Amino acid sequence: MRTKIVAGNWKMNNNRDETETLLAELSAKLPDTDAQVIVAPTFVNLEVSTRALESSTIEVAAQNMHFAENGAYTGEISADMLLNIGVDTVILGHSERRAYFGETDELLAKKVKTAVDKHMKVIFCFGEELEERKSGNHFSVVENQLKNGLFHLDAQAWKHIVLAYEPVWAIGTGETASPEQAQEMHAFIRNTIAKKYNDSVADAVSILYGGSVKPNNASDIFSKPDVDGGLIGGASLKADDFVAIIKAI
Ligand code: PEP
Repeated sequence: MRTKIVAGNWKMNNNRDETETLLAELSAKLPDTDAQVIVAPTFVNLEVSTRALESSTIEVAAQNMHFAENGAYTGEISADMLLNIGVDTVILGHSERRAYFGETDELLAKKVKTAVDKHMKVIFCFGEELEERKSGNHFSVVENQLKNGLFHLDAQAWKHIVLAYEPVWAIGTGETASPEQAQEMHAFIRNTIAKKYNDSVADAVSILYGGSVKPNNASDIFSKPDVDGGLIGGASLKADDFVAIIKAI
């Protein structure tokens, strides 16, 4: 049985007060669930979040980190800094990091290695752009992102990896991949991992779908056999919507 996960990527939203308010509301409304629930507030609100969630099952993730141990990297945050405040999960490779901050597969491979070496859990995001889907290249784009970003890991390391397939054309656009499109790509991803490693690695890895998941489409998407949950952007900023999505899993 794979772990079901619903993770909320808050991006650059919510000041400290808003963070505390949203977490209190979420904690109060959290339904009984077998799914792992994760929220990813901005860096400056991570510590206040881990404190607020001390007695909750909701986990806290960072939205990014640097690959280096420490040093002259102005503005950056290391794995140890995250671990030191109780954050052992990190989102890497989000399409906004790739598009606006120039993060390449090669850079992400280094970040992934550092996170895994530090025994952190990585939510690794990847997915094709609209033009790539329209031209029929989406499978090869996704395969390359997987190979370049993750296939330097040995099979053992995959217990630290959660995948988030996020077609860029569906992120924040209100346009969602159909449940069939999501299933087709998730099955392809699992098959690609099985070919490189083996069935047990491929069967164990949770693959989340991300891209305009909302309360009204979550259960259809989550009903697909290779979809193990969701990475949620906009809808994770409203407690009621996020809770409805958690209930859908
Ligand atoms: C995301 O940014 O990871 C995401 C899926 O955003 P949204 O749900 O808003 O499309």
